[in-house]
Amino acid sequence: MDISEKMLGLGKKSSVIREIFEYSKRRKAEIGAENVYDFSIGNPSVPAPGIVNETMIRLLSEGDPVQLHGYTAASGDPAVRQKIADAINREFNAGARWDLIYMTCGAAASLTISLAAITEPGNEVLVIAPFFPEYRVFAEHAGAKLVPVPSRTDNFQLDLGAIEKSINENTKALIINSPNNPTGVIIPKEDLIRLSELLSAKEKEYGHVIYLIADEPYRKLVWNGEEVPYVPNYYADSLVCYSFSKAVSLPGERIGYILVSPTMKNAGDVYAAICGAGRALGFVCAPSLLQFTVAECVDATSDFSIYRKNRELLLRELTRIGYEVIPPDGAFYLFMKALEPDANAFYERGKEHELLLVPSDSFGCPGYVRIAYCVTTEQIERAIPAFEKLYEDYQK
Ligand code: PLP
Repeated sequence: MDISEKMLGLGKKSSVIREIFEYSKRRKAEIGAENVYDFSIGNPSVPAPGIVNETMIRLLSEGDPVQLHGYTAASGDPAVRQKIADAINREFNAGARWDLIYMTCGAAASLTISLAAITEPGNEVLVIAPFFPEYRVFAEHAGAKLVPVPSRTDNFQLDLGAIEKSINENTKALIINSPNNPTGVIIPKEDLIRLSELLSAKEKEYGHVIYLIADEPYRKLVWNGEEVPYVPNYYADSLVCYSFSKAVSLPGERIGYILVSPTMKNAGDVYAAICGAGRALGFVCAPSLLQFTVAECVDATSDFSIYRKNRELLLRELTRIGYEVIPPDGAFYLFMKALEPDANAFYERGKEHELLLVPSDSFGCPGYVRIAYCVTTEQIERAIPAFEKLYEDYQK
């Protein structure tokens, strides 16, 4: 074959989420946008906070235009990284160091770079199911094998026994995502402590490092004041993959970072490998204007009150109708039990009522659908009768 078969496959078949999102656009053109209830994609529905645009305008009108649009250091502008490290230390007292921060094009790039930096072909990367489906693409691209570990069936929290059983001499990393996409679950401090004890014991047993990768695009989206413990404060061999996509509604601008835990024994080498992976993948010098902008907005968030309202409305209405849902503690997704074992068949029935819900199979946890509630409240209000009809379909 004159092209990479693997890449051809990835390019020809987009993710289930993207497929539904594209279907939604076609369907909206056919029957009108207000008649399609698209809950497929995690695209923030609230604008970036004012400070983001104000900073951009100020930088564009007052900044040095050459520097503003020029290359920064491959790993990101040092002053930007210092501001990010300062903000992390103010909030978590984590000893974060600017020279262990690598600016990226969002969490997707952070994960791709991190996995390429720490794994070698044959290594295994554990993920907790249900998980963000792109993890499989990122891990396999690095030559590693993705190993899903089920979470607890009663509450979707970590199942430490299952994690322990899945670790072997090939295990190189575990990815956790809290608050979680698609369940909204937040890992409590006690569980993180137990997880870090387990990983430390396994590192000793197998004589090599097991990295804990905290994928954190939803860190700031928390609904009932739960603490989202800062992973590097609990486990030395950790990396944080952060993104500004959801916290400040900038998903299309592609900006985030990787933080290497300052307490990691070989932090310098891991950081150098991250620089190497960024170089090999062409992920150098994240967009300069965005770097300078987020440095001024590290503590800002979008107005999350709409997500909060949407969450409450959906929880109340879906429960009233009779659906079984997991009350999410964070992020803007609701995980709902499908009304038949085959979530794809349930998705198709939902489609008949113009409800676009993501079947959970690609998240490694069949039998559910994910509802992204980062939409307008009006869309939810209009969709409730459709959810009712779908439920009635299954009572016949
Ligand atoms: N990780 C998770 C769990 C996500 O849900 C997403 C996006 O939805 C990403 C990573 C990628 O985010 P980014 O836009 O920062 O690349």
